[in-house]
Amino acid sequence: MPARTHTVALDLGGTDLKAASIASSGEVRVFTRVPSRAGEDADALVAALIGTARGLLDGASGVGVGCPGVIHPASGALVDRTVHLPLPTDFPLRDVLERALGVPVAADNDANCAALGEHVAGAAKGASVSITITLGTGVGCGIVVDGHVLRGAWGGAGEIAHMGLGRRGRACGCGVEGCAEPLSGGEGLVLRARESGLDATGAADVFAAAADGDARATQLIDEMTDALGQQIGCAVQMLNPEVVVIGGGIAQAGEPLLAALRAAVARHAQRSHVRSLRIVPAALGNRAGVVGAGLLAWQRLGGGT
Ligand SMILES: [Zn+2]
Repeated sequence: MPARTHTVALDLGGTDLKAASIASSGEVRVFTRVPSRAGEDADALVAALIGTARGLLDGASGVGVGCPGVIHPASGALVDRTVHLPLPTDFPLRDVLERALGVPVAADNDANCAALGEHVAGAAKGASVSITITLGTGVGCGIVVDGHVLRGAWGGAGEIAHMGLGRRGRACGCGVEGCAEPLSGGEGLVLRARESGLDATGAADVFAAAADGDARATQLIDEMTDALGQQIGCAVQMLNPEVVVIGGGIAQAGEPLLAALRAAVARHAQRSHVRSLRIVPAALGNRAGVVGAGLLAWQRLGGGT
């Protein structure tokens, strides 16, 4: 049997499907990005997954896939539904891909994959316990302990986005009373910026306005980072990580965001938990998800990290 050289990694999003071949060290050998076809239907999306994986499969020993929503750690199936994709309820993601591709497949939540990538090969390398926050339209989170994703009983651990923290304002579609995500996520930031009269098409516009001294933008970002700091503070109290990694598109805001978050987490968690805590930018950028998905496949195969 030829040596196993790489795994195929898929990072499925509402717009893009990122794919890569990943060495057991986490090194990215090939990287590609194609439309995920999630705007069409489930069949189109699954066809995109299978077709893209086949293109990288030669010489690969397995496939890892990161997907929005809760993915059951035992079955690799979607638990219930995800609003981000047109997949049916309880869609058996792992089994469908294994049947089509003929190799072992590992499936996990996309934020969990990003967290595994950063923990093993990125900004949290060397940490025992790390949390990786993926800031985009919403707030993704993954927890990794000693090189393994902490998944919970059916894959839902680490969902800090939808914690009921008594926040008032726009309701979230998740159904949790007082959910913080409408305040702490990028989508909510842009919506509130427009309501306050700012010409914002993305979160970067709000950060740019604040950098230019716009008081409305500054206040909105203060509210966002306080809500996010409260969510992260709860996770820090619960898990006592050494490192919190901040990634995702909104993390492009850089040091102004990180400094505000460090201050907010310090307000919402005990000094004993925060004093030695490092809150750092992601190192793998938009490739964290594929790196983690590839490493997940190596773990499923019993090799690599
Ligand atoms: Zn929510």
